Amino acid sequence: MSKRRLFVTTALPYANGKFHIGHIMEYIQADIWVRFQRMQGNLVHFVCADDAHGAPIMIAAEKAGITPQEFVAGISSGRKPYLEGFHIAFDNWHSTDGEENHQLAKEIYLQLKNKGLIEVREIEQFFDPEKGMFLPDRFIKGECPKCGAKDQYGDSCESCGAVYSPTEVKNPYSTLSGSSPILKKSDHYFFKLSDPSCVQFLQNWIHTPNPQGRARLQPEVLNKIKEWFVADESGKTGLGDWDISRDAPYFGIEIPEAPGKYFYVWLDAPIGYLASLKNYLDQNNTQKTIAEALPFDQFLSDPSVEQYHFIGKDITYFHTLFWPAMLHFSGRKTPSSIFVHGFITVSGEKMSKSRGTGIDPLKYLSLGMNPEWLRYYLAAKLSSKVEDVDFNPDDFMLRVNSDLVGKYINIAARSAGFIHKQFNSKLGEILPNGESLLVSLQSSADSISNLYEEREFAKVLREIMALADKVNEYVDQNKPWELAKKENSQLELHAVCTTCLEAFRYLSIYLKPVLPALSEQVESFLKCQTLTFSDAKTRLGAGHTVNPYKHLIQRVDEKMLDSLFDLPTETESTASGVTPAISEAIISKNEDHASLVKPGGEEIAQIINIDEFAKVDLRVAQIVSCESVEGSTKLLRLMLDVGEGRHRQVFSGIASAYKPDDLVGKLTVMVANLAPRKMKFGISEGMVLAASHVDEKISPGIYILHPWPGAVPGMRIH
Ligand SMILES: [Zn+2]
Repeated sequence: MSKRRLFVTTALPYANGKFHIGHIMEYIQADIWVRFQRMQGNLVHFVCADDAHGAPIMIAAEKAGITPQEFVAGISSGRKPYLEGFHIAFDNWHSTDGEENHQLAKEIYLQLKNKGLIEVREIEQFFDPEKGMFLPDRFIKGECPKCGAKDQYGDSCESCGAVYSPTEVKNPYSTLSGSSPILKKSDHYFFKLSDPSCVQFLQNWIHTPNPQGRARLQPEVLNKIKEWFVADESGKTGLGDWDISRDAPYFGIEIPEAPGKYFYVWLDAPIGYLASLKNYLDQNNTQKTIAEALPFDQFLSDPSVEQYHFIGKDITYFHTLFWPAMLHFSGRKTPSSIFVHGFITVSGEKMSKSRGTGIDPLKYLSLGMNPEWLRYYLAAKLSSKVEDVDFNPDDFMLRVNSDLVGKYINIAARSAGFIHKQFNSKLGEILPNGESLLVSLQSSADSISNLYEEREFAKVLREIMALADKVNEYVDQNKPWELAKKENSQLELHAVCTTCLEAFRYLSIYLKPVLPALSEQVESFLKCQTLTFSDAKTRLGAGHTVNPYKHLIQRVDEKMLDSLFDLPTETESTASGVTPAISEAIISKNEDHASLVKPGGEEIAQIINIDEFAKVDLRVAQIVSCESVEGSTKLLRLMLDVGEGRHRQVFSGIASAYKPDDLVGKLTVMVANLAPRKMKFGISEGMVLAASHVDEKISPGIYILHPWPGAVPGMRIH
């Protein structure tokens, strides 16, 4: 089969905020698919970009006192830790404000205009009399004209998915000033989507398979789109013309030959896919092979190049109607397929994309949670359907611990030690029962490949785990731990453990698109080359040497999950926009757990950030002298040297645990910038650190902190 060439994108995130878990889910879904395609030997260009334009960014930048470009650059510079953290390997990350996008958007617009599909109309538009500007759709709210849902944005309804013009909204108000907007006239530019040629093209496009013979759209997406084509009572088609211009002031691309008019952000956003690809292919990268080095125009117009967009269900209209029409009527190739996914919910709580969710991806990483747990868990939930995916903490822990670690990793853990200790790290021959097991694992390669191709990741993992079950049954039947104790069973033990490692390699090949970092560790452990799907046809073979087994992946620690769902502080909560409903879900999750684990008798304090911690100045201090305090049975008076050329007096409640002579000359740790406190016995200029259980009756000891040898007075503790 010849090598396929694919151009794959995820939706462009709007550059007015950090990534939330919904972005990460989409990127993981696309990344798994891209890695699978590459393991098949296909060439993939996988790109994305920041969606930089529009009034919301302009207004946010204005509030921050910086230019929109600076604002977007700030957001963009924060993308890397998320993408690297979750092993999402885009080839390129660009911006819709890039030069390529300005050029391509103007080009496409002029081509549409030449086709007679652009029309100028005077329209009445909402104008905020207090702010003195035309109101962007997102800054008008009101009732959806289609379903009547309240508090919907001026351009589309989150409740029923309808897309409409702001003037159709019922009982509108300006979210900038709260005032009722007035209607004011202005010239606007329209893309004539209702033109018979457009309607006919789209009707045909949505129903025709792509050149690879696959459906362009998922069945449920197609059904939804059909509704949009339905004519109203007047006999007009359901497709309205699309208003693609906005009046200055606007952060965007100026429309050619139309001063003061800018492209509506949704016109140039999808063009950003092409712009990012162009930016990537134009880079003078000598690492690229000849096929990769094809010029942008040539690559994109090649009929054999496949083009795929992963998107969320809320932007289906833009991608299945406007986007193919823009491409087709500007003389370009249309997408091969649009892959639409649902939203992510947390413990069943539905969240709006614009309001964020209950899981902060960076917090997940900062807690030391393994990114591949999340990749595995989301893959286990994702299918080709437009279904919402629920993150359930208990289910997450169960699937990672019992399937990923308990079934898959365990196969290597149970057999590698024998190979290493008893057989000098060399693999042996396979016996007939092992042979039939391995053949059955190998024969699953095609069905697993087909499921990956169809984005049926949940089915992929079910099939792989069923194979892992077979291998574990084989281990249980052959009991290597008993063979190791029996005499004359060396050959059999060698064969059983070899079979396990060969089987482990097949499972690792099948899991590699989901678990790229773990697979690298496996490749190094098995001393094999970079695994691809064609390696399912081969064996490591007798005599192959492996490296000593090191533990490959940890189990999910319940405490981490609890920290992940800890209530954010008030400021974080405002910033991330956690809704009250989600906060409630988080609280109830905490209550479940609070009664179970209280380390040291008390719950871990509220999360602080590194800057807050840095305010506490901890220093190594030498106890120069120490004496008991007359009139107190609890306190000791310490004189401490923290390298300041003077001594500090500190009273500490440790008299029950230490005699003064025990402490003299010793090093300890003190809070050096605590405000001095006037006590009955004198001023205390700091605090010595000591550990204790919150309840003396449960555990009475007090333990003063003592640095390791080498620390000297005055050193700061970081
Ligand atoms: Zn609606």
